[in-house]
Amino acid sequence: MDCLFCKIINKEIPSNVVYENDDVLAFYDIAPQAPVHVVIIPKQHIASPAHITAENCDIAGKMFLAASEIAKKLELEKGYRIVSNCGEDGGQTVQHLHFHLLAKRSLAWPPG
Ligand code: 5GP
Ligand code: ZN
Repeated sequence: MDCLFCKIINKEIPSNVVYENDDVLAFYDIAPQAPVHVVIIPKQHIASPAHITAENCDIAGKMFLAASEIAKKLELEKGYRIVSNCGEDGGQTVQHLHFHLLAKRSLAWPPG
């Protein structure tokens, strides 16, 4: 499959891994938007948040659990933001479900 994040999962493309288990992989974003910018992805290919179904939605909890564990590991006690861009208007550029975990700077709200 011609999916960038599936290639990262398969180690065809290198990444700087922060966290990994049987279901989830997390790595540092190549173009960080904050001092800490981690991308959290399911190891199964799901194209976007719009492709979450009753059958595959357990993975969303596993992605949040990964975020919580990464935040502890990286000592993000001041807080962080989790973002999941969906589709064209949502600004999604890679068609494989992912969370951005952003931290170590004050983040504006609303995001714009
Ligand atoms: P999106 O724009 O779909 O919400 O997020 C995709 C993210 O993947 C972007 O923040 C982009 O910088 C990141 N990205 C794109 N290609 C690569 C890559 O080859 N390696 C890593 N580590 N991140 C990537
Ligand atoms: Zn994929």
